[in-house]
Amino acid sequence: MGDILTRIIELPAGVSAMTVVDENGDYNIYINASLTREAADRALQHEMEHIRQGHFDTDKPVAECEKEAEGKKS
Ligand SMILES: [Zn+2]
Repeated sequence: MGDILTRIIELPAGVSAMTVVDENGDYNIYINASLTREAADRALQHEMEHIRQGHFDTDKPVAECEKEAEGKKS
């Protein structure tokens, strides 16, 4: 539980990454295989920030979560 697994898979254009919490409570980050190395790194950091900030266990509006995930990026 609380583990983070990252996989590079084919995703629709326009979706850079997504995170799914599975039945074990682990975080599965999927990164779009068509991204450049830099974009993939950025997408990964973004998803990690969502996890760090507990966005998968909150009633906070999505827009606010997105702002927080972006704001904390270096
Ligand atoms: Zn996001």
